[in-house]
Amino acid sequence: MNLLYHELLVQLSTMPDQVTLRHDVDSMQDLAQCPIMAIVEKELGLKSTFFFLPFVSETWPDFRYIRNFVAQEQSVGIHIDAGPYMPSGEGLLGYIKVGMRQLGLVGCRCSGHGSLNNHKYGYSYEIWDHYDPYVNKGLGYKGKKYSLSTFSLVGDLSMLSDYSFYLGDSMGEWHYHTPQMEVPVPYEGNLPITKHPTEVIKQCQQRHRHIQVLIHPGYSL
Ligand SMILES: [Zn+2]
Repeated sequence: MNLLYHELLVQLSTMPDQVTLRHDVDSMQDLAQCPIMAIVEKELGLKSTFFFLPFVSETWPDFRYIRNFVAQEQSVGIHIDAGPYMPSGEGLLGYIKVGMRQLGLVGCRCSGHGSLNNHKYGYSYEIWDHYDPYVNKGLGYKGKKYSLSTFSLVGDLSMLSDYSFYLGDSMGEWHYHTPQMEVPVPYEGNLPITKHPTEVIKQCQQRHRHIQVLIHPGYSL
């Protein structure tokens, strides 16, 4: 693991009550780094959730071994991309149900994959009936709403309501936002970071604010 990511994890471990730590496993590179990430976090006493893309993950060698290893150290959830990877004719319901079965999950949390296709083909956190457009900025989705329990899901970490700050390394670049920034779509609208990521976290710690941190394990190499 590189020094920056190790430094970030150490820093987050000093403020466990203020942190929601999330890993989206989008690529082979992410998958390969999952075990070391899980071990380092366990050593630091840091809780996190690893979200796997089911239909892509299934095609990766060692996927099941690594997913099972990670599940022993940290929690595991489903990463939703109902766009390009949606099995034909299955719809969102099928994606989540079949995907959870593939991952061996019951009653897990989910996170949305930040692709435009995903929003286009029907998935964003706005589909959940407890989504609050005043708290969670969105695209103004008007379609059918679902309850998380329909899918035996217990939470969607793509939603903004549970934290004040967001810091993520999507596409290999650090981005952050706060709900006050009026970002319409969290993934595409994130502002490039102007401070060092450790400075953003330090700021949250000093202000006693909650922060969600998204780390793709592959970038920690
Ligand atoms: Zn993703």
